[in-house]
Amino acid sequence: MSETLYDVLIIGGGPAGLTAGLYTSRARLKTLLVERMILGGQVMTTTMVENYPGFPGGIDGPDLMMRFQEHCQEFGLETITGEVTGLVDKGREKIVAVDDREIRTRAVIITTGAEPSKLGIPGELEFTGRGVSYCATCDGAFFRNVPVAIIGGGDTAAEEALFLSRFASKVYLVHRRDELRATKVLQDRIFANDKIEPIWNSTVEQVVGDNTGVTSLILHNRQDDSQRTLEAVGMFVAVGVTPKAHFLADILELNAEGYILTDSDCRTSIPGVFAAGDVRKKILKQIATAVGDGAIAAIVAEKYLDCME
Ligand code: NAP
Repeated sequence: MSETLYDVLIIGGGPAGLTAGLYTSRARLKTLLVERMILGGQVMTTTMVENYPGFPGGIDGPDLMMRFQEHCQEFGLETITGEVTGLVDKGREKIVAVDDREIRTRAVIITTGAEPSKLGIPGELEFTGRGVSYCATCDGAFFRNVPVAIIGGGDTAAEEALFLSRFASKVYLVHRRDELRATKVLQDRIFANDKIEPIWNSTVEQVVGDNTGVTSLILHNRQDDSQRTLEAVGMFVAVGVTPKAHFLADILELNAEGYILTDSDCRTSIPGVFAAGDVRKKILKQIATAVGDGAIAAIVAEKYLDCME
C-alpha cells in the first residue's frame, strides 16, 4: 500500500483523462494519472483531426495529444504507466490496484475510453495481425497496391477507407445497411473517391486465408440472402467501440453495453468516483465532448473533496 494519499487518481490518459488532470493539477489537487499504454488514447491512431475547435485546416492526432501532455506538464501532473485491475471503495478513501501496487486516493476519475469492437466471426482472431486489423492508421501502409475491405458505416470506417485509398489498389467498404452513418462531409469524400467501392446490405461471414495471411472474405447479402467471395488481402474492422470498464463491473453500475452510468455531472454510482469520456454512457463521442467531460469531472471532484474536508 502506498504511503502517499492522492486527492485524485485518474485512470486513463486520453483527451478526457488529460483534461481532468490539467484541471485538478491546476487546482493544486495532488493528482496521479495512470495510463496502461501511451498517453493520448485513441486519438494517437488518428491521422487528421478536422473538427477539434481552434485548429483550422486540422491537426495530426498525435500532435494534438502531445500538446495536451505539454499543457498538463505545465501544471505538474504526475503520470505513471500501469494497468489498473481493481478499485475498492472505503468511503473517504479509495484503494486502486495498479499492477502489484495499491494506491490510496480520495477521489477517482475513470477515463479508460473504449476499444474497437470485434465482429466475432470465424477467421477473425486467427488472422488478426496477418490481414485483419482494427487500425488503418497503424497498419494501412502494409497494404500497398492490394485490395482491402473496411467493415462498418460510421465515421471511423469512412475516415479509414479514405486513408486506405492512399495505399491499396481498391478499398471495398462493406456495410450492413444501404446508407452510411458517417458525417455528410465524409460521405461526400467517399463517393467521390474512385478507389472506394461500397458494398451495401452485406456482412462478413468468414475470413479466409492461408499461411500467407488473408486471401478473401465470404460476404452475406442481407437483402437476397446470397453469398459471395470478395478477393481482399486485408480486412479493417470499424464497427464501433466497446467501453473499457469490465474490470469495474462488480462495483460500479454499468449499462447492458458495458458503459459506466453517470449523471450529467459525471458522478457514478459511488460517491467520489467519476467517469468521463467514451467510457461513460452519453450521446456523442468526440474529442470535444471528452474534453468537456474531463473538465466537468475534475471540477465536480474538487467540489466533492471540499465537502469531505
Ligand atoms: P459507430 O458510429 O458506432 O459506427 C459503427 C458502424 O459499424 C455502424 O455503421 C454500424 O452499422 C456498423 N456495425 C456495428 N456492428 C456491426 C456488426 N456486427 N457488423 C457489421 N457492421 C456493424 O462507430 P465509429 O465509427 O467507430 O464511431 C464511434 C464514435 O466516434 C461515433 O460517435 C463517431 O461519431 C465518433 N468518431 C468521430 C470522428 C470524427 O468526428 N472525425 C471520427 C471517428 C469516430 P449501422 O450503421 O447499421 O448501425
